[in-house]
Amino acid sequence: MELFTKQFEVKTGERIELKDITNQVQSIINDSKVKQGIAFVYTLHTTATIIINEAERGLLNDIKKWVQAAFSRTDYDHDKIDTNAAAHIAATFAKNAVTIPVDDGKLALGTWQRILHLELDGPRTRSVIVQVIGTPF
Ligand code: ZN
Repeated sequence: MELFTKQFEVKTGERIELKDITNQVQSIINDSKVKQGIAFVYTLHTTATIIINEAERGLLNDIKKWVQAAFSRTDYDHDKIDTNAAAHIAATFAKNAVTIPVDDGKLALGTWQRILHLELDGPRTRSVIVQVIGTPF
């Protein structure tokens, strides 16, 4: 059984931004030499999330619009001490991690599935940890 851990950074340029990180995760799986197992992809932040969805440009804009609707409220209590309550709340309803099967050294994603980093309080530099666990080649 192999356990391989690697961290990488995601630099975001906008307050709400989606970035496809599938290739970075696959590259870490390649480095891990795991053939059959799981990949755990985790963000170390409370105002960023990791999701799996289609990376179609229109859909990415729609997800952004949906999140922005949550930012339109102005009566959040956390905003009295910080200005990012909406980002924390949006992060609560997405998740800070995803787990994906690894089959024959490849992410077992569906045809349209991509791993997306969703920034909710950018621009910032974010840290993502990937752990790959499984049997080696
Ligand atoms: Zn805060």
